[in-house]
Amino acid sequence: MAAALGLLIFLGLLFAAVKVLPGRDVAGREEPDGTRFRYRINGMAVFAAANVLVAAGTLIFDLSLAPLLDHFWTLFITANLISFALALWLHWRARAARPGPTTLGQKLIGRELNPRVFGVDLKMWAYEPSLIGFGLLVGAFGYAQFERHGEITPQMGFWLVGWWIYLATHYAYQDFLLSIWDVIEERFGLMLLWGDLVLVPFFYSIGGWFLLDQRDPISTPALLAIAALYAVSLWMFRSANAQKWRFKQDPKAVIWGEKAEAIGGRLLISGWWGIGRHLNYTGEIGVYLALTLATGFDSYVPYLLPLWMLVLLTHRAYRDDRRCRAKYGAAWHAYCAHSHFRMFPFVY
Ligand code: NDP
Repeated sequence: MAAALGLLIFLGLLFAAVKVLPGRDVAGREEPDGTRFRYRINGMAVFAAANVLVAAGTLIFDLSLAPLLDHFWTLFITANLISFALALWLHWRARAARPGPTTLGQKLIGRELNPRVFGVDLKMWAYEPSLIGFGLLVGAFGYAQFERHGEITPQMGFWLVGWWIYLATHYAYQDFLLSIWDVIEERFGLMLLWGDLVLVPFFYSIGGWFLLDQRDPISTPALLAIAALYAVSLWMFRSANAQKWRFKQDPKAVIWGEKAEAIGGRLLISGWWGIGRHLNYTGEIGVYLALTLATGFDSYVPYLLPLWMLVLLTHRAYRDDRRCRAKYGAAWHAYCAHSHFRMFPFVY
């Protein structure tokens, strides 16, 4: 019961943090009616506040994150219930605003594109419990290993630092969220809520269970090879997204030292986008694979995470190609002729 209450307080606190912490006011994509949604981009302040609170709680009050693992299943069940309850509430809210019959798809996916409460965009807010919650669960495995065994293995250290950098770089480039498919096209309802509140925190941290009691340190060459895969993949993932975002803001942006080139003035062919059409996806899969390789080969279970990313993102690349072909027509064909593959040279 205390864990369930704690989760509700956590969600409320993050709502307040998104509402009040300082940030930049950024305009979203232009809507069909010419208007633009305004967003407050303050995720870095939320992330910094969470880090400071955890550090202060540990150093001053001797608090630990490890109990999160003791209450893992209660938290998991509560997060499921909350995401269903919120989805139901969103559904009723949308129906009250626009009465009429609803399809099953609308019930599952949601009806409103950008629901807001007290001026807070709920879709952007939901990324915070998702990612900060994920970060806390990841951290809990580090605390738990140290408390159980009195040490942090090199592979656990790498896993903790790797996810921390993944989150920090997410917040450093948070603006790009305003251009991603989920934010601009997807309705907000059960699908996104469940993904944010359940799938990401509880499934993406799965590797921790396999590192927790592993005592033999990984060999240094293996760790260096995994770290190299991680670094190259993270660079590809984040910089590809940043290049596209910069180009959309300013078509004359400089990419890899030269003025951006584009087909039809709209499809970027500089940087990663001139090599393949979805290297941002490839990079992200590489990050997940590297962090999973750190868990070793005792079980295939943690590998379900990079496998899931592979399926999710290859399907997304396929869906996105179809959408772009319809939107850009001949320019898209010219782009495909220039950047032959989507994610993997000679394969896909
Ligand atoms: P993209 O950021 O790749 O966006 C695709 C869109 O970008 C296209 O629809 C088109 O939109 C535009 N575009 C494509 N090619 C070009 C080009 N050459 N020049 C200019 N514009 C182009 O995909 P997503 O929004 O799906 O994903 C964003 C990020 O989020 C990715 O890095 C992905 O890995 C990550 N992600 C992570 C998930 C996770 O669970 N960790 C889940 C889903 C995504 P337009 O009409 O605007 O031109």
